[in-house]
Amino acid sequence: MVLISLGIEGTAHSFGAGIVSDDGQVKSNVWDMLTPSEGGIHPREASRHHSELGPLIIQKSIANAGIVPNDIDIVSFSRGPGLGPCLRTTATMARTLALRLNVPLIGVNHCVAHIEIGCLDSGFRDPVTVYVSGGNTQTIAFSGGRFRTFGETLDIAIGNMLDSFGRDVGMRFPAGPKIEMASLDASTFYELPYSVKGMDLSYSGLLTAARRLYSEGVAVSDICYSIQETAFGMLAEVAERALAHTKKDEILLTGGVAKNNRLTNILEGVAERHDAKFHRVSPTLAGDQGAMIAWTGILQYNAGDQIPIPDSHVLPKWRTDEQEIIWRA
Ligand code: AMP
Ligand code: MG
Repeated sequence: MVLISLGIEGTAHSFGAGIVSDDGQVKSNVWDMLTPSEGGIHPREASRHHSELGPLIIQKSIANAGIVPNDIDIVSFSRGPGLGPCLRTTATMARTLALRLNVPLIGVNHCVAHIEIGCLDSGFRDPVTVYVSGGNTQTIAFSGGRFRTFGETLDIAIGNMLDSFGRDVGMRFPAGPKIEMASLDASTFYELPYSVKGMDLSYSGLLTAARRLYSEGVAVSDICYSIQETAFGMLAEVAERALAHTKKDEILLTGGVAKNNRLTNILEGVAERHDAKFHRVSPTLAGDQGAMIAWTGILQYNAGDQIPIPDSHVLPKWRTDEQEIIWRA
Protein backbone atom coordinates (compact mmCIF):
# COMPACT_ATOMS: atom_id res chain seq x y z
CA MET A 1 0.00 0.00 0.00
CA VAL A 2 1.41 3.34 -0.93
CA LEU A 3 0.89 6.37 1.23
CA ILE A 4 -0.58 9.43 -0.49
CA SER A 5 0.25 12.94 0.70
CA LEU A 6 -1.51 16.14 -0.29
CA GLY A 7 0.86 19.10 0.07
CA ILE A 8 -0.37 22.67 0.23
CA GLU A 9 2.04 25.56 -0.29
CA GLY A 10 1.15 29.21 0.26
CA THR A 11 3.94 31.13 1.97
CA ALA A 12 4.07 34.11 -0.42
CA HIS A 13 2.78 34.99 -3.90
CA SER A 14 2.19 31.40 -5.08
CA PHE A 15 -0.47 28.96 -4.02
CA GLY A 16 0.10 25.33 -4.90
CA ALA A 17 -1.24 21.85 -4.23
CA GLY A 18 0.59 18.65 -5.08
CA ILE A 19 0.01 14.96 -4.62
CA VAL A 20 3.02 12.73 -3.95
CA SER A 21 3.20 9.06 -2.95
CA ASP A 22 5.74 7.61 -0.55
CA ASP A 23 7.57 5.83 -3.37
CA GLY A 24 8.60 9.33 -4.51
CA GLN A 25 6.18 9.74 -7.41
CA VAL A 26 4.89 13.25 -8.04
CA LYS A 27 1.36 12.50 -9.20
CA SER A 28 0.26 16.09 -9.65
CA ASN A 29 1.54 19.58 -8.98
CA VAL A 30 -0.75 22.53 -9.66
CA TRP A 31 -0.05 26.13 -8.75
CA ASP A 32 -0.92 29.71 -9.52
CA MET A 33 1.13 32.79 -8.84
CA LEU A 34 -0.20 36.25 -8.07
CA THR A 35 1.44 38.63 -10.55
CA PRO A 36 0.68 42.23 -9.60
CA SER A 37 0.69 44.55 -12.63
CA GLU A 38 2.66 47.10 -10.65
CA GLY A 39 4.39 47.29 -7.29
CA GLY A 40 5.40 44.37 -5.12
CA ILE A 41 3.35 41.69 -3.43
CA HIS A 42 0.93 42.88 -0.80
CA PRO A 43 0.47 40.14 1.83
CA ARG A 44 -3.26 40.79 2.05
CA GLU A 45 -3.75 40.63 -1.72
CA ALA A 46 -1.73 37.43 -1.87
CA SER A 47 -3.78 35.82 0.90
CA ARG A 48 -6.98 36.83 -0.91
CA HIS A 49 -5.58 35.21 -4.05
CA HIS A 50 -4.93 32.04 -2.05
CA SER A 51 -8.37 31.91 -0.47
CA GLU A 52 -10.11 32.56 -3.80
CA LEU A 53 -8.13 30.10 -5.92
CA GLY A 54 -6.94 27.64 -3.27
CA PRO A 55 -9.94 25.31 -3.22
CA LEU A 56 -9.95 25.07 -7.03
CA ILE A 57 -6.22 24.38 -7.15
CA ILE A 58 -6.58 21.65 -4.54
CA GLN A 59 -9.48 20.07 -6.45
CA LYS A 60 -7.52 20.21 -9.70
CA SER A 61 -4.50 18.64 -8.09
CA ILE A 62 -6.59 15.75 -6.74
CA ALA A 63 -8.23 15.26 -10.14
CA ASN A 64 -4.91 15.42 -12.04
CA ALA A 65 -3.47 12.76 -9.77
CA GLY A 66 -6.34 10.47 -10.71
CA ILE A 67 -7.41 9.97 -7.11
CA VAL A 68 -10.39 10.87 -4.95
CA PRO A 69 -10.18 12.86 -1.69
CA ASN A 70 -10.59 9.68 0.37
CA ASP A 71 -7.33 8.32 -1.10
CA ILE A 72 -5.40 11.05 0.73
CA ASP A 73 -3.57 9.61 3.76
CA ILE A 74 -1.94 12.77 5.13
CA VAL A 75 -2.33 16.53 4.64
CA SER A 76 0.93 18.51 4.65
CA PHE A 77 1.11 22.30 4.62
CA SER A 78 3.76 25.01 4.53
CA ARG A 79 3.84 26.20 8.13
CA GLY A 80 6.52 28.84 7.59
CA PRO A 81 8.56 30.89 7.03
CA GLY A 82 6.49 33.35 5.05
CA LEU A 83 3.95 36.15 5.06
CA GLY A 84 1.54 35.85 8.01
CA PRO A 85 -1.76 36.37 6.15
CA CYS A 86 -0.75 33.90 3.40
CA LEU A 87 0.37 31.26 5.89
CA ARG A 88 -2.83 31.56 7.91
CA THR A 89 -5.06 31.18 4.85
CA THR A 90 -3.13 28.13 3.74
CA ALA A 91 -3.10 26.57 7.21
CA THR A 92 -6.86 27.03 7.52
CA MET A 93 -7.44 25.06 4.33
CA ALA A 94 -5.05 22.33 5.46
CA ARG A 95 -6.70 21.98 8.89
CA THR A 96 -10.16 21.89 7.34
CA LEU A 97 -9.12 19.13 4.95
CA ALA A 98 -7.33 17.10 7.61
CA LEU A 99 -10.42 17.28 9.83
CA ARG A 100 -12.82 16.51 7.01
CA LEU A 101 -10.78 13.54 5.78
CA ASN A 102 -9.85 12.52 9.31
CA VAL A 103 -6.13 12.18 8.47
CA PRO A 104 -2.91 13.43 10.14
CA LEU A 105 -1.75 17.02 9.61
CA ILE A 106 1.95 17.69 8.99
CA GLY A 107 3.55 21.15 9.32
CA VAL A 108 6.40 21.55 6.85
CA ASN A 109 9.22 24.08 6.76
CA HIS A 110 9.20 25.73 3.33
CA CYS A 111 13.00 25.97 3.00
CA VAL A 112 13.53 22.37 4.11
CA ALA A 113 10.93 21.32 1.53
CA HIS A 114 12.93 22.99 -1.27
CA ILE A 115 15.95 20.90 -0.23
CA GLU A 116 14.10 17.61 0.16
CA ILE A 117 12.31 17.83 -3.19
CA GLY A 118 15.70 18.71 -4.71
CA CYS A 119 17.18 15.55 -3.18
CA LEU A 120 14.29 13.48 -4.52
CA ASP A 121 14.73 15.05 -7.97
CA SER A 122 18.51 14.55 -8.08
CA GLY A 123 19.07 11.43 -6.03
CA PHE A 124 21.54 13.49 -3.96
CA ARG A 125 21.86 12.42 -0.35
CA ASP A 126 23.70 15.22 1.33
CA PRO A 127 24.23 18.33 -0.82
CA VAL A 128 25.28 21.88 -0.23
CA THR A 129 22.07 23.62 -1.31
CA VAL A 130 21.99 27.03 -2.93
CA TYR A 131 18.41 28.18 -2.41
CA VAL A 132 17.64 31.32 -4.39
CA SER A 133 14.13 32.71 -4.77
CA GLY A 134 11.97 35.79 -4.55
CA GLY A 135 12.16 35.85 -0.78
CA ASN A 136 15.22 33.77 0.13
CA THR A 137 18.94 33.55 -0.59
CA GLN A 138 20.62 30.87 1.50
CA THR A 139 23.45 28.37 1.38
CA ILE A 140 22.37 25.38 3.44
CA ALA A 141 23.95 22.07 4.43
CA PHE A 142 22.98 19.28 6.80
CA SER A 143 25.12 19.07 9.92
CA GLY A 144 24.50 17.82 13.45
CA GLY A 145 20.87 16.85 12.90
CA ARG A 146 19.78 20.10 11.29
CA PHE A 147 19.91 21.97 8.04
CA ARG A 148 22.38 24.75 8.86
CA THR A 149 22.24 28.04 7.04
CA PHE A 150 25.91 28.63 6.30
CA GLY A 151 25.30 31.92 4.61
CA GLU A 152 22.41 34.12 3.61
CA THR A 153 21.57 37.56 2.38
CA LEU A 154 21.95 40.30 4.95
CA ASP A 155 19.29 42.44 3.28
CA ILE A 156 17.16 41.60 0.22
CA ALA A 157 16.81 38.25 -1.55
CA ILE A 158 18.34 37.84 -5.00
CA GLY A 159 14.94 37.36 -6.70
CA ASN A 160 13.58 40.43 -4.97
CA MET A 161 16.61 42.41 -6.16
CA LEU A 162 16.07 41.25 -9.76
CA ASP A 163 12.33 41.96 -9.60
CA SER A 164 12.88 45.42 -8.06
CA PHE A 165 15.36 46.44 -10.74
CA GLY A 166 13.12 45.00 -13.44
CA ARG A 167 10.15 46.96 -12.16
CA ASP A 168 12.17 50.20 -12.39
CA VAL A 169 12.97 49.58 -16.03
CA GLY A 170 9.44 48.57 -16.99
CA MET A 171 9.63 44.77 -16.84
CA ARG A 172 6.59 43.01 -15.43
CA PHE A 173 6.88 40.69 -12.45
CA PRO A 174 8.62 38.26 -12.41
CA ALA A 175 11.56 40.11 -13.94
CA GLY A 176 14.23 37.42 -13.45
CA PRO A 177 13.63 35.69 -16.81
CA LYS A 178 13.45 39.05 -18.65
CA ILE A 179 16.74 40.15 -17.12
CA GLU A 180 18.29 36.86 -18.20
CA MET A 181 17.05 37.41 -21.79
CA ALA A 182 18.18 41.06 -21.86
CA SER A 183 21.67 40.14 -20.62
CA LEU A 184 22.24 38.10 -23.79
CA ASP A 185 22.37 41.36 -25.81
CA ALA A 186 24.97 43.03 -23.60
CA SER A 187 28.25 44.38 -24.90
CA THR A 188 29.81 46.00 -21.83
CA PHE A 189 30.33 44.97 -18.21
CA TYR A 190 29.93 47.69 -15.59
CA GLU A 191 31.43 47.16 -12.19
CA LEU A 192 28.80 46.95 -9.42
CA PRO A 193 29.23 46.55 -5.65
CA TYR A 194 30.37 42.98 -4.91
CA SER A 195 29.51 42.34 -1.30
CA VAL A 196 30.41 39.05 0.39
CA LYS A 197 30.85 39.19 4.16
CA GLY A 198 32.17 35.88 5.42
CA MET A 199 29.54 33.44 4.21
CA ASP A 200 26.83 36.08 3.93
CA LEU A 201 26.12 38.42 1.07
CA SER A 202 24.28 41.64 0.41
CA TYR A 203 22.36 42.82 -2.65
CA SER A 204 20.97 46.22 -1.71
CA GLY A 205 24.12 48.16 -2.66
CA LEU A 206 24.17 46.40 -6.02
CA LEU A 207 20.53 47.33 -6.61
CA THR A 208 21.16 51.01 -5.78
CA ALA A 209 24.18 51.13 -8.10
CA ALA A 210 22.28 49.42 -10.92
CA ARG A 211 19.47 51.95 -10.57
CA ARG A 212 22.04 54.75 -10.78
CA LEU A 213 23.47 53.34 -14.02
CA TYR A 214 19.95 53.24 -15.46
CA SER A 215 19.31 56.87 -14.52
CA GLU A 216 22.59 57.74 -16.25
CA GLY A 217 21.33 56.21 -19.48
CA VAL A 218 23.40 53.02 -19.58
CA ALA A 219 21.85 50.34 -21.81
CA VAL A 220 19.47 48.05 -19.92
CA SER A 221 21.05 44.93 -21.44
CA ASP A 222 24.49 45.95 -20.14
CA ILE A 223 23.10 46.58 -16.66
CA CYS A 224 21.24 43.25 -16.67
CA TYR A 225 24.44 41.46 -17.67
CA SER A 226 26.46 43.27 -15.01
CA ILE A 227 23.86 42.53 -12.32
CA GLN A 228 23.87 38.82 -13.18
CA GLU A 229 27.64 38.42 -13.34
CA THR A 230 28.10 40.24 -10.03
CA ALA A 231 25.19 38.72 -8.11
CA PHE A 232 25.88 35.17 -9.34
CA GLY A 233 29.63 35.57 -8.77
CA MET A 234 28.89 36.34 -5.13
CA LEU A 235 26.76 33.19 -4.85
CA ALA A 236 29.50 31.11 -6.44
CA GLU A 237 32.05 32.36 -3.93
CA VAL A 238 29.80 31.49 -1.00
CA ALA A 239 28.89 28.07 -2.43
CA GLU A 240 32.54 27.30 -3.02
CA ARG A 241 33.40 28.18 0.55
CA ALA A 242 30.52 26.09 1.91
CA LEU A 243 31.69 23.13 -0.15
CA ALA A 244 35.27 23.45 1.08
CA HIS A 245 34.13 23.92 4.67
CA THR A 246 31.66 21.02 4.82
CA LYS A 247 33.69 18.69 2.55
CA LYS A 248 30.45 17.60 0.87
CA ASP A 249 30.50 16.55 -2.77
CA GLU A 250 27.15 17.64 -4.18
CA ILE A 251 25.76 21.07 -5.06
CA LEU A 252 22.01 21.44 -5.40
CA LEU A 253 20.56 24.58 -6.97
CA THR A 254 16.94 25.31 -6.16
CA GLY A 255 14.32 28.05 -5.82
CA GLY A 256 12.75 30.16 -8.59
CA VAL A 257 16.05 31.83 -9.55
CA ALA A 258 17.47 28.34 -10.24
CA LYS A 259 15.71 28.60 -13.60
CA ASN A 260 18.52 30.95 -14.66
CA ASN A 261 20.91 29.29 -17.13
CA ARG A 262 23.83 31.61 -16.46
CA LEU A 263 23.67 30.94 -12.72
CA THR A 264 23.51 27.23 -13.49
CA ASN A 265 26.67 27.45 -15.67
CA ILE A 266 28.57 29.34 -13.00
CA LEU A 267 27.72 26.85 -10.24
CA GLU A 268 28.46 23.94 -12.56
CA GLY A 269 31.92 25.42 -12.87
CA VAL A 270 32.30 25.56 -9.10
CA ALA A 271 31.24 21.91 -8.79
CA GLU A 272 33.69 20.86 -11.50
CA ARG A 273 36.61 22.61 -9.83
CA HIS A 274 35.83 20.76 -6.59
CA ASP A 275 35.12 17.38 -8.12
CA ALA A 276 31.54 17.66 -6.87
CA LYS A 277 28.31 16.66 -8.57
CA PHE A 278 25.87 19.38 -9.58
CA HIS A 279 22.11 19.34 -10.02
CA ARG A 280 19.67 22.08 -10.89
CA VAL A 281 16.18 21.20 -9.73
CA SER A 282 13.73 20.55 -12.58
CA PRO A 283 11.81 23.72 -13.54
CA THR A 284 8.45 22.40 -12.28
CA LEU A 285 9.96 21.66 -8.87
CA ALA A 286 12.16 24.76 -8.58
CA GLY A 287 9.70 27.46 -7.57
CA ASP A 288 7.15 27.37 -4.77
CA GLN A 289 4.76 24.44 -5.29
CA GLY A 290 2.85 21.82 -3.34
CA ALA A 291 4.76 18.68 -4.36
CA MET A 292 7.73 19.70 -2.23
CA ILE A 293 5.46 20.11 0.78
CA ALA A 294 3.74 16.79 0.11
CA TRP A 295 7.05 14.92 -0.17
CA THR A 296 8.62 16.47 2.93
CA GLY A 297 5.36 15.74 4.77
CA ILE A 298 5.84 12.04 3.96
CA LEU A 299 9.41 12.08 5.31
CA GLN A 300 8.24 13.75 8.51
CA TYR A 301 5.20 11.53 8.96
CA ASN A 302 7.26 8.35 8.50
CA ALA A 303 9.59 9.62 11.23
CA GLY A 304 6.62 10.15 13.55
CA ASP A 305 6.19 13.90 13.16
CA GLN A 306 2.61 15.19 12.95
CA ILE A 307 0.84 18.05 14.73
CA PRO A 308 -2.44 18.12 16.59
CA ILE A 309 -4.70 20.76 15.07
CA PRO A 310 -4.77 22.98 18.20
CA ASP A 311 -0.95 23.25 18.02
CA SER A 312 -0.79 23.94 14.30
CA HIS A 313 -0.36 27.73 14.42
CA VAL A 314 1.81 29.11 11.63
CA LEU A 315 5.45 30.13 12.10
CA PRO A 316 6.18 33.20 9.90
CA LYS A 317 9.80 33.42 11.08
CA TRP A 318 10.57 29.69 11.24
CA ARG A 319 14.29 29.42 10.54
CA THR A 320 15.65 26.51 8.54
CA ASP A 321 17.97 25.45 11.36
CA GLU A 322 15.31 25.62 14.09
CA GLN A 323 13.82 22.28 13.08
CA GLU A 324 15.30 18.97 14.16
CA ILE A 325 15.48 16.87 11.01
CA ILE A 326 14.55 13.58 12.65
CA TRP A 327 14.14 11.66 9.38
CA ARG A 328 17.81 12.17 8.49
CA ALA A 329 19.19 11.34 11.94
P1 AMP B 1 10.01 31.65 -6.12
O1 AMP B 1 10.10 32.76 -5.07
O2 AMP B 1 10.81 30.45 -5.76
O3 AMP B 1 8.60 31.34 -6.53
O4 AMP B 1 10.71 32.22 -7.44
C1 AMP B 1 10.32 33.44 -8.03
C2 AMP B 1 11.56 34.26 -8.32
O5 AMP B 1 12.36 33.60 -9.31
C3 AMP B 1 11.25 35.64 -8.85
O6 AMP B 1 12.02 36.58 -8.15
C4 AMP B 1 11.68 35.56 -10.32
O7 AMP B 1 12.11 36.80 -10.85
C5 AMP B 1 12.82 34.56 -10.24
N1 AMP B 1 13.12 33.91 -11.52
C6 AMP B 1 12.32 33.11 -12.26
N2 AMP B 1 12.95 32.74 -13.41
C7 AMP B 1 14.17 33.31 -13.38
C8 AMP B 1 15.29 33.33 -14.28
N3 AMP B 1 15.28 32.68 -15.44
N4 AMP B 1 16.39 34.04 -13.90
C9 AMP B 1 16.42 34.70 -12.72
N5 AMP B 1 15.40 34.73 -11.85
C10 AMP B 1 14.29 34.05 -12.17
MG1 MG C 1 10.44 29.32 -2.02
